[in-house]
Amino acid sequence: MHLRIKLLTAFLFIIVTFQAFSQSVDDRKLIKHIAYLSADELKGRKTGTEENEIARKYIVEEFKNMGLNTFYPEFTEEFRFQSRREGKTLIGKNVIGFVPGTESKKIIVVTAHFDHVGIGKANAEGDSIFNGADDNASGTAALLEMAKYFSQNPSKHSILFAALDGEEMGLQGAKALVSDFPFELDQIALNINMDMISRNEKGELYVSGTYHHPELRAILEEASKGKKPHLKFGHDLPGTGSDDWTKSSDHGAFFEKGIPHIYFGVEDHEDYHKQSDEFKNIDPEFLIDATNLILSCILRIDEVLLKE
Ligand SMILES: [Zn+2]
Repeated sequence: MHLRIKLLTAFLFIIVTFQAFSQSVDDRKLIKHIAYLSADELKGRKTGTEENEIARKYIVEEFKNMGLNTFYPEFTEEFRFQSRREGKTLIGKNVIGFVPGTESKKIIVVTAHFDHVGIGKANAEGDSIFNGADDNASGTAALLEMAKYFSQNPSKHSILFAALDGEEMGLQGAKALVSDFPFELDQIALNINMDMISRNEKGELYVSGTYHHPELRAILEEASKGKKPHLKFGHDLPGTGSDDWTKSSDHGAFFEKGIPHIYFGVEDHEDYHKQSDEFKNIDPEFLIDATNLILSCILRIDEVLLKE
């Protein structure tokens, strides 16, 4: 072979090998997703609005391109619920994709809500759009790139990826999913929920839920060793009021059904549920690191849970 062709072949081999073994998501696409979902044009993705529908279609398109399986037309589980605040019945839409496992009938359910609170009063700067960049375009972006990763590298357990709607109105999408789940509920090994994973000044990401399932703690400690952000355990002690995050996001609906959960999220920050929860205020590097850290945790869980 000509030297240049040899070098080119070696180079391509290295790239292909690296991609096959690198357990990480596509950084560039991760940031593209969070930027898109939190843009002013999507007006805060409130359940029942035209812009929430645009976000849903974006997620559906991504799932379609990955070739994910599903149990619903257009990957979409429609559900109805009574909104007390609006005094009427609303329709919510979860987006659900599925990657069958190679060895186990058990299912890991990965969730992140894509809805947010929409438009409200203008702040001092005249901004009335609650963009929900950290809450929870961040978790949705991570869910999309993880779904892509597992569509290319199937796990031993099956994984159901659910971008949930109606979280901000009382975990409605999660409640709908567990009350009409496409499999027996006891096939669910655990729920892994992501809600607010793109910023923390101390470089810390909380993992809540291991109080109820201490056997998961060692697995997560091992998977996160030496990695950024720093994984902190806590916010799951019963009787500690708002410090206990057990029912603070979609994992709460799984907890109510007796299903183990692990919730990844950061401590509340100054822009939480404000107009200023915008793309410019997230920390892209934190989001990339957090997503890859959670991916490592899922990969470790996938290896270890089967042995039990
Ligand atoms: Zn949230």
